[in-house]
Amino acid sequence: MSWLFEPAATPSLAVHGESSRFPLHRIYCIGRNYAAHAREMGASVDREHPLFFCKPADAVVTDDADVPYPSATHDLHHEVELVVAIGRDAEGPVEVEQATSLIYGYTVGLDLTRRDLQGLAKAKSHPWDVAKAFDASAPIGALRPGLPPADAAVWLRVNDSLRQQAALRDMVWSIAEMLAELSRLFRLRAGDLVFTGTPEGVAALHRGDRFVAGLDGEELLSGRIV
Ligand code: MN
Repeated sequence: MSWLFEPAATPSLAVHGESSRFPLHRIYCIGRNYAAHAREMGASVDREHPLFFCKPADAVVTDDADVPYPSATHDLHHEVELVVAIGRDAEGPVEVEQATSLIYGYTVGLDLTRRDLQGLAKAKSHPWDVAKAFDASAPIGALRPGLPPADAAVWLRVNDSLRQQAALRDMVWSIAEMLAELSRLFRLRAGDLVFTGTPEGVAALHRGDRFVAGLDGEELLSGRIV
């Protein structure tokens, strides 16, 4: 067997304390997972049907590299989020009680959003891909092995001013609940990432902005919009 052309490189994340990298499979995201953010977007929380969408794995920006301002938007927004990484294949649907056993590690990422195109998509009941799944739409930090600290706060600073900060406990769907829901819709695999939703305070990013994000006192991601 031979390839018609060389396959693209496998996207991956660094892991703190490891020389091996974490190879990426898929990126799942949940929307409207903090009530105050749903309100600021003029939406409401739906405890019956969580809102999931995806980004391509090769949309990641890793190792604190520069993030290019995307084409086709005049309103790029930041959404800082806890990200969990799946470390083993699920056999099929998992129960809430077992769901966190799939987790390899965690970090924080930005669910970058073309807010103007998302507004158009919402108005027309169109899918969100062009608003959410564009190239370089997922800056993400190095992974920390283990479960995310339950009591931590996720935060984002842009040019040294605090833009977003909230307790992970304020999530509408807990990590275990969203993994169980996702596992009924997709087969979760080692290498999957899950963006767990953003709190209130989303706002615009501009060329030249520097961002830093983390959990409590731990800085996990930094970068610059260019
Ligand atoms: Mn988001």
